[in-house]
Amino acid sequence: MLCTYENQFLEEAELRQIQLERLQSTLQRIQRNVAFYQRRFKEINFDPDEFSSLKDLEKLPFTTEEDLSRAYPYDMFAINLRHIVRIHSTTGKDKDPIVIGFTENDLKVIASLVLRTYQNFNLSSEDVFQITLNYGLGTAAFSFHEGAHLLKASTIPASAGRTEKQIKMMLDFGTTCLIATPSYLKILKNRLSQNIYPLAKLRLKTILSTGEPLEDSLKKDIEEFFQAQVYDIYGLSAVLGPGIAYQCPQNRHLHLAEDVILAEIIDPNTLKPLPPGEYGELVLTTLVSEGFPLLRYRTGDKTIIIPKKCSCGRTFKIIEPIKERVDDVLIVKGINISPKRIASILDSILQTQVAWKMEVIRTEEKDELVLKIGITEELFYDQMKRQRGLVDNLRHSISLWLGVTPRVVLVEPESLKKE
Ligand SMILES: [Zn+2]
Repeated sequence: MLCTYENQFLEEAELRQIQLERLQSTLQRIQRNVAFYQRRFKEINFDPDEFSSLKDLEKLPFTTEEDLSRAYPYDMFAINLRHIVRIHSTTGKDKDPIVIGFTENDLKVIASLVLRTYQNFNLSSEDVFQITLNYGLGTAAFSFHEGAHLLKASTIPASAGRTEKQIKMMLDFGTTCLIATPSYLKILKNRLSQNIYPLAKLRLKTILSTGEPLEDSLKKDIEEFFQAQVYDIYGLSAVLGPGIAYQCPQNRHLHLAEDVILAEIIDPNTLKPLPPGEYGELVLTTLVSEGFPLLRYRTGDKTIIIPKKCSCGRTFKIIEPIKERVDDVLIVKGINISPKRIASILDSILQTQVAWKMEVIRTEEKDELVLKIGITEELFYDQMKRQRGLVDNLRHSISLWLGVTPRVVLVEPESLKKE
């Protein structure tokens, strides 16, 4: 099996050998089937047949989010569409979204990645999972769901939102493992703090936090409030989803799933690889993906590969929990919001250049995306009603395209410059 619990304990030399073989066969498939990489290989004069050591990794081309958007819809697929059994999509930085395809085998790998994560936290078929992530075009909810299915646990596909209902299910269905974004954990905690709920009925023992950076203070808060362990799970829809890095059951670091990905840290400015222990951008290469293999994919997330073995005995490398990005992408409710994407939506709706600014306001209760737009002559309507219509239209369109509903505020353009 490509991805097992035992793999976490492979000897270093054996693990590197497996990685090399898997990468070599990935390169062959890519060379045969993906025009984008064929072109890149030609440009840099790279011959996959000559790839004989992981030290050669530096010779491979990078892949960016923009590359994936430009490949819309199917140009990055490495296999004929008839072998693709699931299509997912996420918003990219460019105009077009990123489209991801998985084969039957890819889905098995994804489920076993998540299964392994659950096993690390001693979750079992006795557990009741409640998945409060959106079952939509993103992969996360489905991956957690299928992992729980493989574990033979009971799973409630609660999906996102409807907090009253979520709480009722948690209390009445005896949820023992909750899967949520950090921002939603905050909302749940605040609602439950209202003292109208029989908290003694809660059976939660494990909370898996995903989709956004998890602040240490919030983790501590949530653990104390729910009297449950909180673990951080990292994932990217484009790279196999949740479980490509997961918190060690014994400490705060995250293990990289090195049997299915190869990780590097680079300097985002010079693009040169950095030695272990240095802080930079996480770059991932897939090792077993059939539908959507990626070489040196720049995640935009910043971390450190810690240059020591983890005390738990797992040989997979460990990284610092991810807190920051290299670019100006904001993460709200687990969704990456790129300024470039907002700019193109504003352009298409307003048909005129405006000054604007976006920010995330994170309060005790919730996280909110706030979009401030400078009012120009053209946008200045003296009738309140029309202004209201404009704000509603912007809010609706952004929500439709990005999946996050912002608070739209019209302001004097000067006020944006001052900030
Ligand atoms: Zn460990």
